[in-house]
Amino acid sequence: MRVCVPGGIVAGIDHPTYGRIHARNGIMDVPADVARDLIAHDDCFPAANKPRGADGFVCTSCNFHGYFRACGRCGGSCVRPHELTAGAAPAERSPS
Ligand SMILES: [Zn+2]
Repeated sequence: MRVCVPGGIVAGIDHPTYGRIHARNGIMDVPADVARDLIAHDDCFPAANKPRGADGFVCTSCNFHGYFRACGRCGGSCVRPHELTAGAAPAERSPS
């Protein structure tokens, strides 16, 4: 799940189990148990599922929800959620 890091200035964490987890724009996407620890002990707070005022993007390869056309997890191409559910049509402007 996503957590916001305090002040948005933390670059990431080194987790004993999961290794380095980078933050992007003050948000880290971490496993749920890590998120619980961060929220409980490190002043992090849960991020909303959606960026405010936008639907964000969904990766067509790994289903990662992100804010950009390029997947933050696998580097694949992402589309708007409604483009996924609208029925199989690929994005009208396919990224090169
Ligand atoms: Zn992906």
